Amino acid sequence: MFDLQEYGFTQAELSLDAAGISTDLTGGDIIPGRVTEIRRELYKVVCQYGEVPAVLKGSFYHAAEAREDFPAVGDFVVIKYNGNGNSGITEVLKRRSKFSRTDFSGHQAEYVKHIQEQVVAANFDYVFIISSLNYDFNPARIARYLTATRRSGGLPVVVLTKADLCEDFSGQIAAIREMAEAVPVIALSSKTGYGIDELRPFLEPAKTIVFLGSSGVGKSSLLNSLAGETVMDVKAIREDDSKGRHTTSHRQLFKLASGALVIDTPGMRELGLWDAGEAIGIAFGSVEELISRCRFSNCTHKNEPGCAVLAALNEGSLSPVQWKNYLAQKRETLFVENRSEYFKSRREFHKSIAKKVRNKRDEGFNGE
Ligand code: GDP
Ligand code: ZN
Repeated sequence: MFDLQEYGFTQAELSLDAAGISTDLTGGDIIPGRVTEIRRELYKVVCQYGEVPAVLKGSFYHAAEAREDFPAVGDFVVIKYNGNGNSGITEVLKRRSKFSRTDFSGHQAEYVKHIQEQVVAANFDYVFIISSLNYDFNPARIARYLTATRRSGGLPVVVLTKADLCEDFSGQIAAIREMAEAVPVIALSSKTGYGIDELRPFLEPAKTIVFLGSSGVGKSSLLNSLAGETVMDVKAIREDDSKGRHTTSHRQLFKLASGALVIDTPGMRELGLWDAGEAIGIAFGSVEELISRCRFSNCTHKNEPGCAVLAALNEGSLSPVQWKNYLAQKRETLFVENRSEYFKSRREFHKSIAKKVRNKRDEGFNGE
């Protein structure tokens, strides 16, 4: 029998009686579970009977309205348990946190309706924002991950890897502290083990962690070093069976020896490929293209003659929402690239808002 609380269930997910769902271990076959793996249409769900294979119920396909309604790794779900084959997933419970693919393509979903949000990890407590301390160190990227993490509903922890390659990393730590005072920053090395212990407070039983970071920063190495203990457990249990001991390594949601749960999915890894500048360039390509057509290269897009942005706003080919999002994203990036620029541009932004309110013209950013 599995204790679902060890798999991150809280009272919120366990008080399901009203919906006719049984959490009584001797009870019915409509039971809660958590998605631990997705491979094409085949799911794995941990429930009170252990980890079972599952598929979506036919009714689920009919009821789902958008891609985001489909189960993601980490989702709490309701299944119709079948002890002799695939169980059927009937419902996805309300998520307390999530990462979606569109979060990283620059708010596009707000105005491009056909681009659908795809959830790649759900119901995590901590987000380890991983960056390496060597030449790859990039505060702008970390800032972007911090923003995405706050939007996700998880708590950020900045993890700086490869400390063994860096003699003095006080500067890097100070840079992170300056932009995110309250966020824990931990420098470590998966190679030497330095600093790994500082992660312990976050590796609490039943807490779920996701890793966010670019390729090559050392996510796998850190996972392996954290899972080291688990692998030993697995080995002890499986010594006399033929299933091998490396099952842990390609799990998508697994439990560490400390009792903490880690989500590692291909989708989550892809998110790490988005870079600050890159994301703006791709999502707002059309806006950047417009700007390149302004008559003056230092155009502020407020009142200059020959401003392509104002022209597009006036004729409606650029929506005020799109322009607002672009500016918001720009401010966010400026924040880390140049703090004084940031405060100056933010002051101007607030002044322009105040002026708009005075003028009672709330059309958005359609020039002055
Ligand atoms: P991932 O793509 O984020 O999963 O990164 P990997 O874990 O595959 O690591 C990428 C490279 O960095 C590999 O060559 C690792 O051996 C190396 N690496 C990872 N962690 C450390 C570390 O703490 N110290 C050093 N020196 N190298 C590391
Ligand atoms: Zn302009």
